[in-house]
Amino acid sequence: MSNDTVKIPQATAKRLPLYYRFLKNLHSSGKQRVSSAELSEAVKVDSATIRRDFSYFGALGKKGYGYNVNYLLSFFRKTLDQDELTNVALIGVGNLGTAFLNYNFLKNNNTKIAVAFDVAEDKVGTTIGDITVFHMDDMEKVIKEENITVAILTVPAQFAQSITDRLAKVDVKGILNFTPARLTVPPTTRVHHIDLAVELQSLVYFLKHYTVDEEEV
Ligand code: ATP
Repeated sequence: MSNDTVKIPQATAKRLPLYYRFLKNLHSSGKQRVSSAELSEAVKVDSATIRRDFSYFGALGKKGYGYNVNYLLSFFRKTLDQDELTNVALIGVGNLGTAFLNYNFLKNNNTKIAVAFDVAEDKVGTTIGDITVFHMDDMEKVIKEENITVAILTVPAQFAQSITDRLAKVDVKGILNFTPARLTVPPTTRVHHIDLAVELQSLVYFLKHYTVDEEEV
């Protein structure tokens, strides 16, 4: 995120890509304005939260008019640094990793998996969805050459920490951790942890114990 943009709460920041994707679709269908109720229905965030989120970056919707789609889009583009392409490395080309390589992230934003790494001899040297799989021995060299700042971890959990240490040493600033391992990183590195099993379990728990409108935002 660039330094000259407003500091917004982290919960709001996490919702920005969601808003951004929907607004881009609106924009390409030629829509000039959108109400918080329409947005709310589309992104499934309640409209009071949307109004609060948008107020942080000075987008005050007008009653009966809504929000200006162009204004919002240019704000999001700046805030999310979407004008700049972020090259991402994927580490661990197993089932999950392979699915990510085949998924075209560029469809929705300017984030692109540029390289992948693995240790398995049958994977190293292959190309999946246009992306070459390199050996882990070459990780530091390739990451520097390709100017990689973000990595996705889809390796077995027991290898996650040592790989993370290596990534931090070559200045990778963001790690999206899909392994169940809890990672220790230097203060300059940010980890977002996505544990699919835990998310699923938590969803089932919520379904059993709460009704949807009791849920906190
Ligand atoms: P997934 O968990 O993605 O479904 P999987 O069950 O196919 O994967 P895992 O055993 O979880 O396979 O391993 C994921 C991938 O990580 C494999 O391709 C494996 O070769 C690779 N891998 C294992 N150890 C390392 C390591 N130290 N560094 C990089 N990659 C590794």
